[in-house]
Amino acid sequence: MPLPQKTDILVIGSGNAGLSAALSAAQTNPTLRVTVIDKSPVSWAGGNTYFTAGAFRTSHNGLHDLLPLAYEVNGRIKFWGGLALKTQDGGKGLVEDELRAVRNAGVDVFFDTAATALVTDPTSGAVVGVEVINSDSRTSARNKTIVAVDAVILAAGGFEANPQLRAQWLGPGWDCARVRGTPYNTGEMLRIAQRDVSAKTAGNWSGCHCVAWDANAPADSGNREVSNEFTKSGYPLGIMVNRDGERFVDEGFDMRNYTYAMVGRRVLQQPGQIAFQVWDARTVAWLREEEYRAEVVRRIEGESLEELAEKCAEVGLADPGRFVESIKEYNASVEGVDVQKRWDPAVKDGLATKGLAVPKSNWALPIDKPPFLAVKVTAGITFTFGGLAVNPETAAVISETTSDEVPGLYCVGEMLGGIFYDNYPGGSGLTSGTVFGRRAGRAAAERAGRVED
Ligand SMILES: Cc1cc2nc3c(=O)[nH]c(=O)nc-3n(C[C@H](O)[C@H](O)[C@H](O)COP(=O)(O)OP(=O)(O)OC[C@H]3O[C@@H](n4cnc5c(N)ncnc54)[C@H](O)[C@@H]3O)c2cc1C
Repeated sequence: MPLPQKTDILVIGSGNAGLSAALSAAQTNPTLRVTVIDKSPVSWAGGNTYFTAGAFRTSHNGLHDLLPLAYEVNGRIKFWGGLALKTQDGGKGLVEDELRAVRNAGVDVFFDTAATALVTDPTSGAVVGVEVINSDSRTSARNKTIVAVDAVILAAGGFEANPQLRAQWLGPGWDCARVRGTPYNTGEMLRIAQRDVSAKTAGNWSGCHCVAWDANAPADSGNREVSNEFTKSGYPLGIMVNRDGERFVDEGFDMRNYTYAMVGRRVLQQPGQIAFQVWDARTVAWLREEEYRAEVVRRIEGESLEELAEKCAEVGLADPGRFVESIKEYNASVEGVDVQKRWDPAVKDGLATKGLAVPKSNWALPIDKPPFLAVKVTAGITFTFGGLAVNPETAAVISETTSDEVPGLYCVGEMLGGIFYDNYPGGSGLTSGTVFGRRAGRAAAERAGRVED
């Protein structure tokens, strides 16, 4: 089917935020023509959303709200990582379900179609068209055209996959971060919105979500098979040591879901942007199978700390002697604690180091029981926090010049600024996309229903 010359609502980006907005628009007014475009080929459908665990942070009124949604393992109801709501088959299942839902609602979705400019009415300033470049992957032909619109919803992700913009906006060293998800979130729609409609920016432009990530993962994009399994979030169960053999972060300062999105930044700040996560026989069995099994990560094993250090040196540890000393200093700082009695990974157990310059505030077991395990990690960027300013009720984009809404323009998902600062609680990116997607879809449909053709 060819791209339409005119559509009532054009959604730019086919991740969770864009598809939530498209569905909401189609449900609000089924007589409207709603079209979604995405610059990625269909083989990369779903943007970053595809790579998620599908975990949604949500409010609820207790267990009776959740039991119909939770899954049962060996007769017990399980909530993964303290998050109660997760989609079937993670992000892959979410994207499949959302694409099916929008298509059933009559929405057309076009891949290989990039938005390159916003066109405005010179009198009203309203967005009335979008310049797009449509590529035909079979013939390599590229076709530039303008699609006339009554409303546009921007849902094109952040700038996490653009090394130049990362260095420019996040700061020095960020061009070296590995990309966890889609390679197509390169930030041009943020710049286009500023250039073409003077969109106002909001939020933490030097901030991002960044995790400890497998040092052997690809540099510029996630892998759609391995997906989220390159994440290495088992550091609260052990310690992390940098290339010079020094600890550099309190691995136990809070529960995993409140630290994992910050820890990557600390790894990025280390020499060579690498670190080694280390455990002993006490905690290895507690590591998440999907992140640490031998099929997805190179496990470095040793019968003594010295042997472990030598093996780490083969893959980049610069000072094996200091590595061993740091672990021994750490062990000395937890000496005498009745670990069997107090250690509890399900709560902040207060089992802390004493007297270390870099403390570990919870779950501080000694690392002295062979065999030992180490895994080499680097920094994996998930998404960026800076974005556009919107009216929170409708997700309408605000103009920097007039401080009023730009008529006919809405913004959702990673592109929406002002949601996250400094840190991020697990499972809230999808919730943000869905909540503001619904609002934007509804507001865009109400506007499109009023606009006279
Ligand atoms: C490995 C990983 C795991 C995660 N796990 C979770 C989780 O469990 N729970 C959670 O809440 N969040 C999670 N997140 C964060 C979550 O992915 C994002 O917050 C959310 O998916 C963003 O949705 P979005 O629609 O804004 O962007 P995306 O899903 O990235 O979609 C943006 C789309 O816009 C397209 N695009 C870009 N530029 C253009 C253009 N110029 N023209 C047309 N199209 C364009 C891109 O190709 C892309 O498909 C995870 C992220 C990653 C990478």
